[in-house]
Amino acid sequence: MDLNTLKTELETLENECRRAIAEAAGAAALDDVERKYLGKSGALKGMLSKLGSFAKEQRAEAGKLTNETAKRVDAELANAKEKAGKAALDAALEDRGFDITIPGPVVRAGSLHPLTRVRRELEDLFVSMGYAVLEGPEVELEKYNFDDLNIPADHPARESHDTFWTTTPGLCLRTHTSPVQVRGMRWWIDNKFPMPMRAIAPGRVFRNETVDASHEHTFHQMEGIVIDEKPVSIAHLLHSMKTLLRGIFGRELEVRLRPGFFPFVEPGFELDARCLHCEGKGCPFCKHSGWVELLPCGLVHPNVIQSGGFDPEKHSGFAFGLGLSRLVCLRHGVDDVRHLLSGDVRFLRSFC
Ligand SMILES: [Zn+2]
Repeated sequence: MDLNTLKTELETLENECRRAIAEAAGAAALDDVERKYLGKSGALKGMLSKLGSFAKEQRAEAGKLTNETAKRVDAELANAKEKAGKAALDAALEDRGFDITIPGPVVRAGSLHPLTRVRRELEDLFVSMGYAVLEGPEVELEKYNFDDLNIPADHPARESHDTFWTTTPGLCLRTHTSPVQVRGMRWWIDNKFPMPMRAIAPGRVFRNETVDASHEHTFHQMEGIVIDEKPVSIAHLLHSMKTLLRGIFGRELEVRLRPGFFPFVEPGFELDARCLHCEGKGCPFCKHSGWVELLPCGLVHPNVIQSGGFDPEKHSGFAFGLGLSRLVCLRHGVDDVRHLLSGDVRFLRSFC
């Protein structure tokens, strides 16, 4: 073989190769082309084996020509493979409709709602003091919401509860968590639990009232009740309330007791705390009084004890209702109770 023949053969082979590359559809077909021409037993390798037939002085030139052809084909092939890969990716993207290589949006970790946190903290605190945690229905019988709590139909106290009534007579959205007092006492007796009975009942309550910075139609309360064989006194009540507030605020809070009227306690009190927003100077949250109503409390009325199934001659107790929503506002410096249930993520993120 002489150099001219080699040149012609290489040219033919190169053209054949380029055609095969151009016609190959996809990466797998290109791999076949590579094997066929550049592989160990490929056509271009075959040309190298012919070098032995050249005269010694032409052998180097023949080798150079063959290698150069192989290099050009190799480069052409690499170029075609890159294009095929890109086309395959584009097709896949079109198919999926998203690009897995683009960084995704940052997912923020959620956190518990401040109400849930305070509720759980209080539950822990009360459980450590020997209380049971009870629950009652949010749609409540008039009997439990009013009658059994010493609030008969003609009682003026019913007027102060702006009640959402359902279309079913005798059924309303509970206006307070106090119905769980009676349900709880009956449950305690039915299960023959030992005395004293100590229980809390956290949950949502509903009032059909004018909404402002310190009132919402839906808010969270926590009812507490203690019943024991006589006598349970106001001293017991006060001690428990002070322990409770110390647990909540982590310090002694300035409080005051005012006589308060609630039909289901006798005597009844309003326990006020010094406004934590303004330290008593006066602000919209405390309606410029410097004090915030924190919880109504009192000794359980004998009629209620009787409704619950205990004998008021032998048993007495105290009860209190904590405004959880208000407590969260006080503790976190929230000046408008409506923020709590607004569902505003910007507000909730400040508690993350
Ligand atoms: Zn204030």
